[in-house]
Amino acid sequence: MEVFCSFCELSFSEHTQIVKRGSYAVCADCVSIVKEIFAEFETSETYEGGGVCTICGKHHSDFNKVFKGKKVHICNTCLIDIEDELTEMKQSEPEDFISNKSEIKDDIISRVRPEIQQLKAYSVPHYNCSIKLDGNESPFDLSSDIRQKFQDKVNSVLLNRYPDPGADVLRNKLSRMTGLLPDQVVLGNGSDELIEMIIRGFAGGSGKVLIPVPTFSMYKLSSVTLGHEVIESELDEKFDLDLGNFKKHIEEDDPDVIFLASPNNPTGNCFSREKIIQIIESSNGVVVVDEAYCDFSGVAFLDQLSDYPNLIILRTMSKIGFASLRLGMLFASKKITETINKIRLPYNINSLSQAVAETVLDNYETIRSNISTIIAERRRVFERMKIIPGVELFSTDANFILFKINNADRIYRDLIEKDILIRNFNSPGRLENCMRVTIGTQQENDAFLKALTGILSS
Ligand code: PMP
Repeated sequence: MEVFCSFCELSFSEHTQIVKRGSYAVCADCVSIVKEIFAEFETSETYEGGGVCTICGKHHSDFNKVFKGKKVHICNTCLIDIEDELTEMKQSEPEDFISNKSEIKDDIISRVRPEIQQLKAYSVPHYNCSIKLDGNESPFDLSSDIRQKFQDKVNSVLLNRYPDPGADVLRNKLSRMTGLLPDQVVLGNGSDELIEMIIRGFAGGSGKVLIPVPTFSMYKLSSVTLGHEVIESELDEKFDLDLGNFKKHIEEDDPDVIFLASPNNPTGNCFSREKIIQIIESSNGVVVVDEAYCDFSGVAFLDQLSDYPNLIILRTMSKIGFASLRLGMLFASKKITETINKIRLPYNINSLSQAVAETVLDNYETIRSNISTIIAERRRVFERMKIIPGVELFSTDANFILFKINNADRIYRDLIEKDILIRNFNSPGRLENCMRVTIGTQQENDAFLKALTGILSS
């Protein structure tokens, strides 16, 4: 029997968990969304909702709020009940909840590894705001003459043919730009793909992956998906690496792969160079220095590749104006790139991305000038934010600023109401009440500063 969530109307086969109540069903994703909306109601001054809950059939006043979804109205009490049941499902065997709890039979899901069943897909809240400062993208479009060059290049792409499997032209250009051999360069469908390839290729010893926390979420997500144990080492009070703790884990756990994003996301700071070097030197596995934001920090480890055969450098075109291309770059010793190439899927970089990226590299001056503008704007925004009462800033070497503020959830929502989207990281622990704003154009940054100041003073 197919069961559909009454909110999003997707079937069980598209969800791992659904709770069924009478003729209604609620999936895990919708419960989270409803909960978030309730949390917003909690802080909102305008909500006055009451009503009849379709799940329990009871009428509720303002106190026990009723959320009005697609076809269903759901009250606070039912929401909490359903949430509890979903939590129980997570802890029980999949067969157990399928047969006893929701009477759903789905053999396919029972074949999914339990750790994957429990994962939440990578997702970023999507709101259509005109000022988009949430994704660490570049705010700049290209000049019309470079756009014309793109178009000419794209016109010459043979759409009926497979791409060049090795993206040789592009890798040769990168080799000339970096002074490395073309064989030391591997390209990925975003550095996300390269992160996964590194884990698939190199986590075959102890099977463990060591990461600092907080950091970029894909390191953990990809490791868990591939069945590896993730060891997390808390960053220190300045969000720098806790070298003692890292070394202890290196000695005790012998991790196959260590990921260090420097500048780190979402904290924004570079880790201290000396600590990174010590970690590379003490590790027997590979150490990945993810330089996704290095254009904004001016600090790079590329020149260390000749000294450390276990070092991998990752870069991306996503932060400097070309997130749509999905083009990540891996630089390492030939020993490492040979292994990565064994597991790289054929034709992983499509012909259009190859063509556009070649033009980008041929016109790098414009990009450099955009990067300088962003760095100057970052300085200006940082100084302006410093004087806003109630805002605690963390130092940054990237194209974004992490800050802490009371009532982050409310401020996030108020900014959306003012048509400005930033990223809310508020969750218990180190990132409690923390938000991240990407540096945009001068106009966008001014709009953000004005809106934030207005919200805080109202
Ligand atoms: N590394 C870090 C540190 C990042 O923040 C991101 C993107 N947010 C990535 C890698 C992924 O970049 P790409 O778009 O190339 O997949």
